[in-house]
Amino acid sequence: MRIPLIAGNWKMYKDVKETEEFCLKFRELYHDTDIRALLLVPFTSIETVRRLTEGTNIMVGAQNVYFEREGAYTGEISVPMLKALNVEYCIVGHSERRGYFHETDEIVNKKAKALLSEGILPVICVGESLEIREAEGQNEHVKNQIRADFSGISAEDAAKCVVAYEPIWAIGTGRTATPEQAGEMCSLIREELIEMYGEDTADQIIIQYGGSVKPENITDIMNMPEIDGALVGGASLDPVKFMDIINF
Ligand code: PEP
Repeated sequence: MRIPLIAGNWKMYKDVKETEEFCLKFRELYHDTDIRALLLVPFTSIETVRRLTEGTNIMVGAQNVYFEREGAYTGEISVPMLKALNVEYCIVGHSERRGYFHETDEIVNKKAKALLSEGILPVICVGESLEIREAEGQNEHVKNQIRADFSGISAEDAAKCVVAYEPIWAIGTGRTATPEQAGEMCSLIREELIEMYGEDTADQIIIQYGGSVKPENITDIMNMPEIDGALVGGASLDPVKFMDIINF
């Protein structure tokens, strides 16, 4: 059985002081539920979130990583560095990284493999642009991303991954995919994973929807059978809103 996973992606927001303020408020509001909650925060906030959420079930993750273990890669952060901070998850292939930092599926795949080799679980983001959606190419596009991003990953490792379906036209735009559109795409992703790995493995993979998720639309999204959680950007920056989403 898949346990729902609600993850907040803070993007490049909150310095250490703002992180402390968030955590103090969030702790007041938080009580353990059956929903798993994860905060994917800037590198500079990981330690603070970890410390200030101790004793709760909240998990902590990063938003990016480099696939080499160490070396002359100025400005990069490695998997062992994240491991030393007890990071549980890490986003790979977010559309902002694919778009602004030219991350290809090949790079996403290398990062996912590097994370899995150290026991950190990748949240692999896929999703189509508005242009692709308008040309009705979303199914082919997302299937290709899944094939490439999971290439060479064993069934045992694939079962531990999270996939976030995030249509680019719905990220940070206030324009949410309808629950039906989101559900259809998550279903398509599951089918592709079944083809790659068989039903037993594919059934274990958490598939989230992301794109302008907020307290007002989370229930309808989570009511879709193939959606196991949400990747939340903007609304995860506010502890009250994020908690409302977790308590959907
Ligand atoms: C995201 O950052 O992955 C995201 C979906 O952002 P937002 O919820 O703000 O659309």
